[in-house]
Amino acid sequence: MSDADVINIINAFYVLSAALFILGIQGLRKPSTARRGNLTAAAGMLIAVVATFFDREIEAIGYVWIVIGILAGAALGTWFAQTVPMTGMPQMVAVFNALGGAASALVAGAELIRLNDEGFDIDVQTAITIALSCVIGAVTLTGSFVAAGKLQGTINQNPILIPARNAISAIVAAITVGLLVYLVVDPSQEWTFLAMLVAALLAGILVSIPIGGADMPVLVTLLNSYSGLAAAAAGFVLGNNLLIVTGALVGASGLILTNIMTRAMNRSAANVIFAGFGESGASVKSAEGLTYRSMNAEDAGTLLAYARSCVFVTGYGLAVAQAQHEIRSLADLMQERGCDVKYGIHPVAGRMPGHMNVLLAEADVPYDQLYDLEAINRELDQTEVVVVVGANDVVNPAAKTDPSSPIYGMPILEVDRAQSVIVMKRSMASGFSGIDNELFYMPQTSMLFGNAKVSLKDLVTEVEEISKSE
Ligand code: NDP
Repeated sequence: MSDADVINIINAFYVLSAALFILGIQGLRKPSTARRGNLTAAAGMLIAVVATFFDREIEAIGYVWIVIGILAGAALGTWFAQTVPMTGMPQMVAVFNALGGAASALVAGAELIRLNDEGFDIDVQTAITIALSCVIGAVTLTGSFVAAGKLQGTINQNPILIPARNAISAIVAAITVGLLVYLVVDPSQEWTFLAMLVAALLAGILVSIPIGGADMPVLVTLLNSYSGLAAAAAGFVLGNNLLIVTGALVGASGLILTNIMTRAMNRSAANVIFAGFGESGASVKSAEGLTYRSMNAEDAGTLLAYARSCVFVTGYGLAVAQAQHEIRSLADLMQERGCDVKYGIHPVAGRMPGHMNVLLAEADVPYDQLYDLEAINRELDQTEVVVVVGANDVVNPAAKTDPSSPIYGMPILEVDRAQSVIVMKRSMASGFSGIDNELFYMPQTSMLFGNAKVSLKDLVTEVEEISKSE
């Protein structure tokens, strides 16, 4: 078989892999098909790896290092999958992005050295893709490691604002671009590549360091899309079609997710990256002088035991309290008593994309009880009780009613439209945005103070006792 025939067959398998990746992403759109989607994409990756083995250029180099790499990668992947808790997913994604970026930068460097050593005259297009693969890959590498460190708590989670950071960032960015242009003009100067690599690594740190803890998921999704763009550039460097397609898929899906999250927070990606939350200077209405009503678990238990319809709205506090199993137990009990139970999920509730879906899935909450923002808002007028568990900003009516609020315009779960609202949290403290929530002072709202896990357990006991006494 000629070399051209082999390449054609490999490319045919690449088309099959790309199709499986797209079907995999399609599966990830719904929790019920997500597992299958993941397996479909993994099958696509397996086909791609096996097909690549038949590339005759690899035969010339030998398979030993590749097999060592596969074994090391598989061992690490298995270890990650078995040991990383659900709540550690964003850090894990950040580390994987970092490694993806590193791989692209290394591929670019290796290809530059090979072409120069073999005496090729590197054309402008190849030089541009090598330079882009290196710069985007290096920014992704350090930016993602800083993000992972912040999410894990090993690096200070608050925004670290270095004096004159914008000026320093501008200088580093200018140096990086300058070196990139120089490398494209004269690719035989390999020192330019190294200097550009160092500048881009520094740029990655400067991008991530000023961003605060809860904004990190937006940065992680953005870096995720960068790792895709770096891989696509590496695909052009190597002339590998599948790498180009996969990189483009990752790049585009990362950008779409960033867009969904920033829209749900009513902020722009630029605002997340260049400013801290609420740096717009907007005035914030204080709740001083307003009164709120608190209730005990007994009263709340009675209300819930006889409710005909109930919507649970969860937020970051559910994750802090790790109360997902208790909320499921309470919901099950209420359902057994004939209550129609639903869960309202806000896209940015919690501190990572899909945080609430992950927690509730861990407690095996049936998918058909999970409603997204628009769907649950349509139900709330006819809902008897809403139970807000550890959520705050995502149910703050100021987002709709107060143009001076920093969260004005953010889509919210309009729980104030239900007949009664029980809010479970530990105090009257504000949430991530640091602003008061007028929902807590509304006549239909009662506060049930305490750790969500303890309060939910108490409610389970109350409802059980009512059931027993009937
Ligand atoms: P919030 O941070 O607004 O509120 C969480 C509430 O949970 C707090 O008011 C806190 O009150 C309460 N809480 C904390 N611990 C416990 C506990 N152990 N038991 C009971 N209650 C507890 O969270 P939301 O989920 O409502 O909103 C998410 C916020 O995060 C939004 O502002 C969003 O923009 C932002 N964000 C989300 C991202 C994502 O990817 N999901 C990314 C970036 C930002 P108290 O201290 O009184 O208990």
